[in-house]
Amino acid sequence: MEHGLPTGDARTLELAERLERVRERIAAASAAAGRGLPELIVVTKFHPAADVARLYGLGVRQVGENRDQEASAKAAELTALEGLSWHFIGQLQSNKAKSVVRYATAVHSVDRGPLVAALSKAVLAEQEARGRADLEVLLQVNLDPEAIAAGAGGRGGALPDELPALAGQVAVAPGLRLRGLMAVAPLGADAAEAFERLHRISELLRREHPEAGLLSAGMSHDLEDAIACGATHLRIGTDVLGPRPPMG
Ligand SMILES: *Cc1c(COP(=O)(O)O)cnc(C)c1O
Repeated sequence: MEHGLPTGDARTLELAERLERVRERIAAASAAAGRGLPELIVVTKFHPAADVARLYGLGVRQVGENRDQEASAKAAELTALEGLSWHFIGQLQSNKAKSVVRYATAVHSVDRGPLVAALSKAVLAEQEARGRADLEVLLQVNLDPEAIAAGAGGRGGALPDELPALAGQVAVAPGLRLRGLMAVAPLGADAAEAFERLHRISELLRREHPEAGLLSAGMSHDLEDAIACGATHLRIGTDVLGPRPPMG
């Protein structure tokens, strides 16, 4: 494919405007909270590689994807975009680990032991075959009070109780670097309350693992709450790219 960056077309202008508005919200929320600016990861799932190239032209260097098949295809198309980091933020099956480590800088959604083992093995194989940096790992926490009460993490992260063991496993896994936590505010719950809980869990984790200070929290509708609770990484899709198109 051609790597000329699209510039000046209507879509690029739209993305530029939306991106600017999101950056303004982030700056205002950070100032209000008395915190430094968090990193913006633009979630490009369901949007074409051309949009990722447009965003790159607008200065975006970190993008997030939640499905391996889609992400690996886009990453393969866009290898010429130097310094572009792919963050994997979705449910990940262990058998996709080999594919994900070919393009991802970080996986935010690590939530169980077998996946840690699969990622470690895959990174080592990739380092041997083609070379790559260690994979940055964030543990996904399930903040849904019902799941916690039921003692079942399931989709959407490990239970808070499971984190110490999981963190210990990542910390000693070759090829992996434990960097922090990720969470999605539970549907229908108060996001501020959920992120406050996440912040406290993060403080506990950092007592054992001072290197694990990243907090990936905040989406389009709750980024202000996430910033107030100390998010270091925001994952914003809709408010930058617009509604997600149906994907065939
Ligand atoms: C899709 C997605 C986002 C982005 O959500 P928006 O509401 O579109 O900003 C963030 N985090 C995860 C885990 C996602 O799957």
